[in-house]
Amino acid sequence: MRFAPSPTGMFHVGGARSALQNWIFAKQQGGVFVLRVEDTDAARNKPEWTEGILSALEWIGIARDTYEGPYFQSAYAGEHRAAAGRLYDAGRAYYCDCTREAVQARTGSQYQGYDGFCRDRGLPPGEGRALRFRTPDEGTTVVVDLIRGEPTFENKLIEDFVIARGDGSPVFLLANVVDDLTMGITHVIRAEEHLPNTPKQQLLWDALGVKPPVWAHVPVVVNEKRQKLSKRRDKVALEAYRDEGYLAAAMRNYLMLLGWAPSGDREIVPWSVIEEEFRLTEVNPSPAFFDEKKLRAFNGEYIRALPVDEFVAACRPWLTGTGTIAPPPWQPEEFDADAFAAVAPLAQTRIAVLSEIVPNVDFLFLADPLIDEAAWAKAMKEGAAELLDAAVAGYTALESWDAESLKSTLEAVGAERGLKLGKAQAPVRVAVTGRTVGLPLFESLEVLGRERTLARLRAARLRLV
Ligand code: GLU
Repeated sequence: MRFAPSPTGMFHVGGARSALQNWIFAKQQGGVFVLRVEDTDAARNKPEWTEGILSALEWIGIARDTYEGPYFQSAYAGEHRAAAGRLYDAGRAYYCDCTREAVQARTGSQYQGYDGFCRDRGLPPGEGRALRFRTPDEGTTVVVDLIRGEPTFENKLIEDFVIARGDGSPVFLLANVVDDLTMGITHVIRAEEHLPNTPKQQLLWDALGVKPPVWAHVPVVVNEKRQKLSKRRDKVALEAYRDEGYLAAAMRNYLMLLGWAPSGDREIVPWSVIEEEFRLTEVNPSPAFFDEKKLRAFNGEYIRALPVDEFVAACRPWLTGTGTIAPPPWQPEEFDADAFAAVAPLAQTRIAVLSEIVPNVDFLFLADPLIDEAAWAKAMKEGAAELLDAAVAGYTALESWDAESLKSTLEAVGAERGLKLGKAQAPVRVAVTGRTVGLPLFESLEVLGRERTLARLRAARLRLV
């Protein structure tokens, strides 16, 4: 089994899904999972993309010591050329000097494939001559696919395709086959997008005298409009989900549901169940909907299921800024781990992705809260100034600074004005946290402390003069 990404950009969630399926399948079969980086498109590859793939794989649980490689396709250029040479020597490929324009002029269409003009011209190799594979005129190529049955292709409809360019460099189709063959790959599990190439590749395996692998083309991943997920339009990078605060466990569980489900109408299951129950042959061949909303809900459930100390640790990068995660708007030394630990259980039930922790707790770590002006306008209506005055008076006189007393004091302040607690809370909440929604208010005030709470209430009151 192998996973063979091209390092030409961020790591696509569809690629992560294929990698996981490959990896589990290898484990189930007692096989080896090989990671091969297909880096032969030198213009589009960058080493940092390769590193990104390795670390993203590691993040979703494919640890570096659980696979062979990474191997790099570029290191096998000699094998690719040798295979092209063997096919030529055996008469399975021929040189061609036709330009695209000439082929089009002859066939009258830009959509028609190559017309076989040079098939029997016996051209020797030469500068600018492409090497084409001589596809059989008759018969069919039957692809054995664990997900799609046996897609069958008429050989006469497969053009004599190029296997090496005019400069002698082998094309991807051939390099990919030669690598699989060199590495002894028995199962090729890859994206559905490659299915049209498969009969051509299988013909190459046959021509090179090696039994082709078993294929499995996993379904294309689509958005809510049933369009293939695209880098330009959709959020496709696994790294983006990681940096937003999706948990690896939630992410990999969700990825495995793209086209497959565990037994018993369950979706959220321990990874061990997935490893045990997943069957490649049960993967649904139709396009798989990547439902970001569902993934969010999933992640929320995973967050709520964490032991509190793990939740606290998981949030930390967003609160202090590490790695690829941008630091929040306060100095790291202002971050107070104890204050955070005190409110963490309240936040844990309210956020769906870890980055959402920041707007929920930033008021604890900033000298002044970040006031959201729309929230301010909404909360600081008539009577707000008087209410804040009364709250300051009540809170100054408070003996014990605890959530219960803070609540009953404000309840009384509200009652004097004929206000329910919710209404009385609004100006206090905005004055102290800057927002209209957030963690339970009185627990928040308890953790923030008397001095800072009173200072904020007074500052808000001054603004209302
Ligand atoms: N390098 C190809 C890609 O990233 C994969 C081809 C394959 O898996 O056979 O799409």
